[in-house]
Amino acid sequence: MHQALRLRLDTAALISNWRWLQQAAGVTAGAAVKADGYGLGARDVARLLGEAGCRDFFVSSWAEAEALGPLPRGAALSVLHGVGPGDLEAALVNSARPILSTPTQVARWKEAAPGRPCDVMVDTGMNRLGVRADELHLLGGLQIETLMSHLACADEDSAMNNVQRDRFAAVAAAVDAKRYSLANSAGTCLGREFAFDLVRPGLALYGGVPREEAEGHIAQVAFPEAEVLQRRTIKAGESCGYGATWRAANDIEAAIVNIGYADGYLRCFAGRGAASVGDKALPLIGRVSMDLVALDASAAPELAEGEWVTMDYALPEAAEASGLAQYELLTGLSQRFERIWV
Ligand SMILES: *Cc1c(COP(=O)(O)O)cnc(C)c1O
Repeated sequence: MHQALRLRLDTAALISNWRWLQQAAGVTAGAAVKADGYGLGARDVARLLGEAGCRDFFVSSWAEAEALGPLPRGAALSVLHGVGPGDLEAALVNSARPILSTPTQVARWKEAAPGRPCDVMVDTGMNRLGVRADELHLLGGLQIETLMSHLACADEDSAMNNVQRDRFAAVAAAVDAKRYSLANSAGTCLGREFAFDLVRPGLALYGGVPREEAEGHIAQVAFPEAEVLQRRTIKAGESCGYGATWRAANDIEAAIVNIGYADGYLRCFAGRGAASVGDKALPLIGRVSMDLVALDASAAPELAEGEWVTMDYALPEAAEASGLAQYELLTGLSQRFERIWV
């Protein structure tokens, strides 16, 4: 069926972002594909990165593990939320590894799947998920494939980064595992001392720029495209949209397009967002509706009903304009977009 909204996805940008992250880390880079590949489509992301050589993938839940389907050849999948009381059935029939993060999960896995490989999350200061440093003795008897921790402040120049790295190095010296992993996208930009054996970027694969070291190296991957439903002239003094918050100073040409807050294009873009067609800029006018926004199309007099515009969605700039996080900009994109890899 014709889907009237498109998310154009740049395969070459995805691959080159992954390669840059791997090079910046100096070690193997995996890929966080949770939340359906940050909204872009986890299956396609895993397939494309698998073809490029990526072998380590991360999802949140067993439902996401199942939805991912067959992995690229030789690849491994890890489940970030570990194995809860309702997860054992799924976990035992899936080849993915749980990332155990509590003493209860550790005990559950030892009993249900003795000797079967797992990953472990250790807390080094974030106090989100992870076994505490004084609980490491409970890990004896596990076959740990990847032992990991997670940085709380890697997107900032915080003293916490070195504290967590040193704590993690101490954990790595104390607990036996095949590999050790600490860094997300931002942590990967911190360089070799944070990389250990494996980095786990998510955001930067998809065009997010977590730190300035990545600027100029990370390319935009996701381009929302909307269709012009109506062209109209708005006369001087007339308003446009809900609340009549915007009024035309002179006669202007407007284009009404089929994207709105139900698509994840949120109301905070009002007065700040824009679209483009070729090199012409089309600023938003009025409020964002559920399924529509209006654009000032004065710069593109030839733009006709049925033609397409590209919303401005370079993540650092769109985050600045909207006040949303780069993560939110991606994960909020609705299922109404047809996701098209080019
Ligand atoms: C989501 C996640 C990542 C990836 O983080 P980004 O900031 O998107 O690079 C890495 N590790 C863990 C534990 C995560 O939950």
